[in-house]
Parts: sequence; structure tokens; C-alpha cells
Amino acid sequence: MAILDIVTFPTPSLRLKSKKVSKFDAELQTLIDNMFETMRAAPGVGLAAPQIGQSIRLVVVEYKEDGDENAKPRKYVLVNPEIIKRSEEKVTDIEGCLSVPGLAGKVERHEAITVRAKNRFGKPLKIDAEGWLARIFQHEIDHLDGVLYIDRAEEVFEPTPEEAEQIKD
Ligand code: ZN
Repeated sequence: MAILDIVTFPTPSLRLKSKKVSKFDAELQTLIDNMFETMRAAPGVGLAAPQIGQSIRLVVVEYKEDGDENAKPRKYVLVNPEIIKRSEEKVTDIEGCLSVPGLAGKVERHEAITVRAKNRFGKPLKIDAEGWLARIFQHEIDHLDGVLYIDRAEEVFEPTPEEAEQIKD
């Protein structure tokens, strides 16, 4: 496996609309494994392919729910994800991004969403997500359309070390 370089703002490729994945081949499997390794090393809880310079619709997430120290983090691979349902309820919280180092912002997101995607082998899947997981999915799926959280944030600021510690992405 390999740790890949993370592309940072304002690199123009972060602004592209990514292409759908059509081949679930060995190359894709290697890329997914490398993205997980890159995300863990960063460290982060989500990574979208445009963040490592690949303009394809692929997201990896590894996230552990709060309040359960013994729980294993859950891994998600979303290929060609689509948000097919969004809650009316929205919540505002603080986000960061590995591609926008040193900053954080207050962003409003849907509290719950349903995502339809394919897994790493091309099998269809559907996930109901709420809370932080829903936020992570919305943030990462935005990357596939060239959207960064700083576009949506009502306020962008330099977090204190304590605040930075709490930011989950
Ligand atoms: Zn991001």
C-alpha cells in the first residue's frame, strides 16, 4: 500500500465535476486501499478521490460513533454515490477538510440522509446515515462535484488546537 499526496486548495482540479467509475478492476481496489491508508495517516475520517488528484466518483470513510470506546470504526466505500433522501431538519456544526489545512468552518447540513452507491466490487448498496456520519457523507460527496465546505460555511476561521482536536474531518 502507499500513502498518496493530498491535493490542497486552491488546486483547480478540486473544482472539477468527477466522472463516474465504470470499471471495478484491480486498479480500483489498489486505489481504495491506498485511500484508506492515506486517510488514516492524515489523519481523517473521510477522503474523496479528487483529494488525491483522481477525478472519479469515489469516497472512503472510516468513522467510529462517539460514546462507544470499544466499538470498531466502520469502513464505508461509496462508488458513484447519490443522495436520494434528505431530512428537512438541518444542523450546523464545525467541519474541517484535509484539502483546506489550518481552517475550520461552521456548516449547515441535513441531519439525516439516504445514500445510494456501489461498493468496491460494484454491488449496489443503500445507507441511512444521521448525525456525524451524514455530515461526513455530505462533505465527501460534495468533493465529487467540486464543492468545498468553505463554499457552504457561514463562517471560516482558524481553530484553536482544542477546537482542531474535535474536528472530525
Ligand atoms: Zn474535504
